Amino acid sequence: MIPVYLWSPEEEGEWSPGAASRWWLHRSLTSLADDLTSRGSRLILGKGPSLGLLRQLSAVTGATAVFWNRRYEPAAVRRDAAVQAALLGDGMEVQIHNASLLFDPHEVRTRAGGPYKVFTPFWTACLSRPDPAPPRDTPRRLVPPARWPDSLALTDIGLEPKEDWATGLREHWRPGEAGAIEELKRLRGEALGDYPQLRDRPDQRGTSRLSPYLHHGEISPNQVWYSVNRPVAGVRRGRGTEGRVSAARAFLRQIGWREFAYHLLHHFPHTVLRPLRPEFDGFPWSRDRAGLRRWQQGKTGYPIVDAGMRELWETGWMHNRVRMIVASFLVKDLLVSWIEGARWFWDTLVDADLANNTLGWQWVAGCGADAAPFFRIFNPETQGRKFDPRGDYVRRWIPELAAIPDKWIQAPSSAPESILRQARSEPGESYPPPVVDHAAARIRALAILGRLSGRPSPRANPPRRKLMKANR
Ligand code: FAD
Repeated sequence: MIPVYLWSPEEEGEWSPGAASRWWLHRSLTSLADDLTSRGSRLILGKGPSLGLLRQLSAVTGATAVFWNRRYEPAAVRRDAAVQAALLGDGMEVQIHNASLLFDPHEVRTRAGGPYKVFTPFWTACLSRPDPAPPRDTPRRLVPPARWPDSLALTDIGLEPKEDWATGLREHWRPGEAGAIEELKRLRGEALGDYPQLRDRPDQRGTSRLSPYLHHGEISPNQVWYSVNRPVAGVRRGRGTEGRVSAARAFLRQIGWREFAYHLLHHFPHTVLRPLRPEFDGFPWSRDRAGLRRWQQGKTGYPIVDAGMRELWETGWMHNRVRMIVASFLVKDLLVSWIEGARWFWDTLVDADLANNTLGWQWVAGCGADAAPFFRIFNPETQGRKFDPRGDYVRRWIPELAAIPDKWIQAPSSAPESILRQARSEPGESYPPPVVDHAAARIRALAILGRLSGRPSPRANPPRRKLMKANR
């Protein structure tokens, strides 16, 4: 067996890996190569068009079969189909396996035989299928080929940034399988029981942080499924607690959202650039470049939004609740297209994942499957008070606000002048005023979204209780 990694970003089309993903990939490949070496094997690296490289490798080594893992991104799907057809034409054997999903997207179908567009029935259908395949043990030794082909050095692939902006990434992450196993152990050991209560709290470490490892294939969802489900089996035998069972279920439901994202990507590949709901094609997006820039830099004047954007820049990751808040702010307060937000996330996230990112952005914008209702416009101040009640998250990422008391931390622009003066006397940059007035921006967005959805703007005819609940 000759383990091979081919770097062919031009074959990934518009969505070739962004800067933070490349940083991660470099380390992930280092870790994989070390693991293979410790098992008597090697990792062969190539760069360029994949078909040519595979043909070359087969000519040099006499290999007669190629195995790879299935991809679901539209450009990769097209590429893989073309490579498969050409290799079969050469008389090679080709085997393609599912290594990244619990359930293959084409196997889960509605009763009518079509794809799902709503999450809950999709996940119920998944859970009624036979359990996913259990993970296998890692082989201790791998049989090397009679002759190794030449390999590029990892540095020849050029994944590392030219300027070193990645200090924060290095401090926060340990790419590679060992890092993934460590996070999974932490989840099983301490985090899982509290997951339902803490998963929405960016000020606490309440989620698994497995997303970059899952995206890069350093851990499979099957490993996560069996690891998290183990206590459930214990409960069936009379050990453990009810709470742990429902915590495991709540956690696996999130893995279910990942499965749903891939299901949608497989069935609706155009959504990587266009909204699933076609009426949104005509949305009058704003070209507010200055607003977009302030959002990217974490200088909107809304603390929870800015803390999230600064966390993203510093660590390559952002908490899910905050991703929803910042996305809502860009799309509904600034009226900047979701695709601009998706592109920024794509370049800066270490877990940038075409399926999850597309679903996340279209869900918040209201133009995707099972999306948030059009009148759900997150109020950044209320969201901050609810999910970061003491302001710890905001203070961690916005040092300029460190001296603002809890009462004003989520809305410093409304604080009395005496408080602001005291905070300003602290050394460092001063915090910017709000880039837009949220109340006015909300009314503006509701008017446009109401027209688009063919429903009266909730302001003109407010379904009040529903509206208040949705906007909370
Ligand atoms: P946990 O809560 O521990 O969840 C476990 C796993 O379930 C995650 O690692 C992830 O694989 C999956 N998951 C959790 N929530 C979601 C979700 N809402 N949708 C799909 N899968 C989910 N996730 C990415 O992996 N890559 C992205 O590029 C991405 N972009 C997003 C963009 C927006 C606008 C939004 C709102 C969400 C996005 N998400 C994305 C989903 C989610 O925010 C992250 O998966 C999650 O924050 C990762 O943290 P965690 O591993 O601690 O999650």
